[in-house]
Amino acid sequence: MTEKIYVIGAGIVGISCAIALQRDGHQVVIIDKTGPAAGASFGNAGAIVNGSCIPTATPGIALSAMKMLMSNGPLSIDLASLPRLLPWLVRFVIQSSERNYQHNAKALVSLTKQATKSWQTLLDSQNFNDSECQNLFKNVGWLRLFETSATFNANLAARNLMQQCGTDFTILNADDIYQLEPNLNKIFKHGFFQADCHFVASPEKMCQLLTAHFIENGGQLQIADVREISVSNETSAASLPVIKTTTGDIHPKKIVLCAGAWSAKIAAGLNYKVPLMAERGYHLMLPATHLISRPIVNADQSIVLSPMQSGLRMTSQVELATVDTAPDYQKIRSLLPQVKRMLSGVDLTEQSVWMGARPSLPDSLPIISQSTHPDIFYAFGHQHLGMTLGPLTGQLIADLIAKRPTATDLSAFRADRF
Ligand SMILES: Cc1cc2nc3c(=O)[nH]c(=O)nc-3n(C[C@H](O)[C@H](O)[C@H](O)COP(=O)(O)OP(=O)(O)OC[C@H]3O[C@@H](n4cnc5c(N)ncnc54)[C@H](O)[C@@H]3O)c2cc1C
Repeated sequence: MTEKIYVIGAGIVGISCAIALQRDGHQVVIIDKTGPAAGASFGNAGAIVNGSCIPTATPGIALSAMKMLMSNGPLSIDLASLPRLLPWLVRFVIQSSERNYQHNAKALVSLTKQATKSWQTLLDSQNFNDSECQNLFKNVGWLRLFETSATFNANLAARNLMQQCGTDFTILNADDIYQLEPNLNKIFKHGFFQADCHFVASPEKMCQLLTAHFIENGGQLQIADVREISVSNETSAASLPVIKTTTGDIHPKKIVLCAGAWSAKIAAGLNYKVPLMAERGYHLMLPATHLISRPIVNADQSIVLSPMQSGLRMTSQVELATVDTAPDYQKIRSLLPQVKRMLSGVDLTEQSVWMGARPSLPDSLPIISQSTHPDIFYAFGHQHLGMTLGPLTGQLIADLIAKRPTATDLSAFRADRF
């Protein structure tokens, strides 16, 4: 049966859900307070990390986080937000036990191993066969580099887990690295390369193009600020949901909530208390366009350089703060000397800076699930991997709504696991 479905949030997750539901024949409306790619989907590093399996909550993270905080490193906590962050931090540390870590890694890879294929399915489908979208989706792999043997060796446990999870990678020595990326300065001793990863060379433009196709195919985009979703009896199908916006109420048949780091606030109207937090990250754009061929992680400095269509993007930082706290762009500007260390030929003239909120749950897994109400679905919490997992999430939500069996066991991603 086809129905009118409202998708809240026009980030990569919401757009992907809307397109998958439209393909199933539903009449779909996306509601966003600003428009496509207004949140984290605007300015991420663009990596489609097929087979990514390392949860953020790794064994020993509490100690290494303390060290990073004390050394003014890539992790920071907004002290004013701390009382609201503490319950999340406690749960996060619990998730870093060896047992939880292994469980979360296996669950994560059950999704990410389908990432490249789900992107190709989205872009190859007849209705979206747009050469501009195809050109933005590049088959260039994902390169992770280490300046010292000590940091490379410290990463061994992660590589072992990748092997256990069936994630393909090739170990590189210094010569291999400079063959792949000849413009890099010779500061890297070790690295590994995941050849089956892809790169979106403008996440913002990709979201805009996908939304434009969705609209051409009969979908609607409505600009409205959603205050909350409510329902008089959460577990009764007879009780219909309401989307309350600042400009009036909407009475949809079904809702998919995909508002990234803002989702918990909107779900609070359903009395759903989800431990969702904003892991905020920054980017800074530089003019260079052809210095590197793929996204490159400098693991020692925790920065990623991505060769975007519009210039070189440096992304970095995990800033734990409530979602709407004012950004501190000095955090990303202070890393400019690291870009020069990696690429001496680079022009450091700042083009723009940006901050985005990764929607993160303590176990590093998203929620892809029906809520307690049969007509309300949740798709949020994709943390560092939302660009990677958007299209797959769309397929899975469409399967759940159609009551089709899903290709992946979704029990680890249920909304009621917390
Ligand atoms: C610096 C950085 C680098 C990253 N790099 C990568 C990467 O290389 N690869 C990767 O896979 N992932 C990466 N990520 C993570 C990825 O960007 C996110 O996981 C993903 O964008 C989340 O998508 P989303 O659709 O869930 O949320 P968002 O993109 O945040 O979209 C949420 C939408 O909801 C809307 N909204 C919010 N509140 C309301 C409201 N009240 N009413 C109506 N609309 C509302 C917003 O306007 C927004 O458009 C990175 C993130 C950051 C910050």
